[in-house]
Amino acid sequence: MNLPLRKLPLPRILVVDDQAINIQTLYQTLSDDHQVLMATSGEQALAICRASLPDLVLLDLVMPVMDGYEILRQLKTDPALRHIPVIFITANTDNASEVRGLAQGAVDFILKPINPEIVRARVKTQLTLLKQKIVIQESEQYTKAILDNAADGILTCNNEGIIESANPAAATLFGHSTEELIATDLTSLLAVTQRQNISTFFNNPNNSSVSKFEAEALHASGQLFPIEITLSHGVHGGQSLIIVILRDIAERRRIEQMKNDFISTVSHELRTPLTSINGALGLVIGGVVGSVPPAMHAMLDMAHKNSLRLSTLINDLLDMEKMLAGKLDFTFSVQPIIPVLENAIESLRAYGERLNVSFQLQDHPSNALVNIDSNRLHQVMANLLSNAAKYSPQNAQVEIAVTEHDDRVRIAVTDHGTGIPLKFRDQVFQKFSQADASNNRTKGGTGLGLAIAREMITRMNGSIGFTTETDVGSCFYVELPCIPVAAETQKNEST
Ligand code: ADP
Repeated sequence: MNLPLRKLPLPRILVVDDQAINIQTLYQTLSDDHQVLMATSGEQALAICRASLPDLVLLDLVMPVMDGYEILRQLKTDPALRHIPVIFITANTDNASEVRGLAQGAVDFILKPINPEIVRARVKTQLTLLKQKIVIQESEQYTKAILDNAADGILTCNNEGIIESANPAAATLFGHSTEELIATDLTSLLAVTQRQNISTFFNNPNNSSVSKFEAEALHASGQLFPIEITLSHGVHGGQSLIIVILRDIAERRRIEQMKNDFISTVSHELRTPLTSINGALGLVIGGVVGSVPPAMHAMLDMAHKNSLRLSTLINDLLDMEKMLAGKLDFTFSVQPIIPVLENAIESLRAYGERLNVSFQLQDHPSNALVNIDSNRLHQVMANLLSNAAKYSPQNAQVEIAVTEHDDRVRIAVTDHGTGIPLKFRDQVFQKFSQADASNNRTKGGTGLGLAIAREMITRMNGSIGFTTETDVGSCFYVELPCIPVAAETQKNEST
């Protein structure tokens, strides 16, 4: 985009000399591309400076009444004028006057008789420096305005985590003044249990990545409050520093809680009537209350399938909500893995048949013992198997393999289906995520199954992952720690 050109005013230069001839020479040298103001005495020069604020002053050193040093001194003591750069113009060739002038704040020295080229070059240099100074000042003001008005707290810390700057929002967030925050150790502003994340980041100065996490912070009142912290490395004035962005997430948490409570209430209210609708439809379709005419059967069948789908959705929502609230109960017991798998495969067999997909449990020499909640593992396996069947072509086979390595048992479910699109792969385990949202009508599903599966497997100290290739298939696997058979036998013997 081209910005409209702004016609900048010509730089304004004040020439001060008691000799009219000198002023005239300088005027001729500079007036083509500068606005030249003129003064023949110190008093006049100071008055013009106050009235017109020139960008640069060319000042004769030797003048009657008030000499160049005195004019410079008065300029430098006036806060409104001290920023104006001054170049001395003098016939004095001795070093002492040049040193004195520079010490008093002059930016350059030009010798008389002047050489117009040299004057123009020196003036240009000073005006360029001035322009750069203005750009830096504007950029500092701009940054300060952003920092002062940002809604997020922004801090900078040295590599030891000591705060070096803080914006007003950071001060408000913690209930301290910005002055109180400076020189404070950042970790002392967090709940004791939350300090590890910060320390890990500060202890890795070579780590250039950004770290983002939620934590409990400590308000000046002693109250804890939730914040999101983003840490990144930066450099300022040649010094490396850490930039800390702090966001108050109390409101976000409150809204999330409200949303979860709402989903939970609605789901509970829906589940009971839906269970009786499912039951009633099942009984009618099964002919328990009399024979059903074929035309009505198809309609009832559709109603039954849809009410079952709705039940799945509601159960998934309730599971998810319970899990987020840490309320999903797990009943752990040490048991062989294979029967749980066989059970899950058996319960999905009819579903697979409807899609013309068969499940094949491969030879399994494994007698691995695992410490699990068998109902929850069944639920996870049912999700992996039903996904594998859903995304397989007709007449395909889904293989389930069990292998053991490094004290872990791996259950792998391999299909020969569509695979998972590249751009969706990092969202597979997110809540409500589906590669193709239109699938939830054609294939059924909520996009919650794998999110729930991951939470459940994590609770069972295991891990879940996948490999996939577009149009070749996917392999979803679960790994669980094995309980050594000997240890289990010993435990049983001692009890
Ligand atoms: P859904 O209830 O939609 O199946 P999941 O959380 O179980 O929800 O799966 C999320 C999404 O991951 C699916 O909608 C699908 O896009 C993709 N997906 C899961 N398993 C497979 C698979 N075996 N093959 C292809 N895509 C899969």
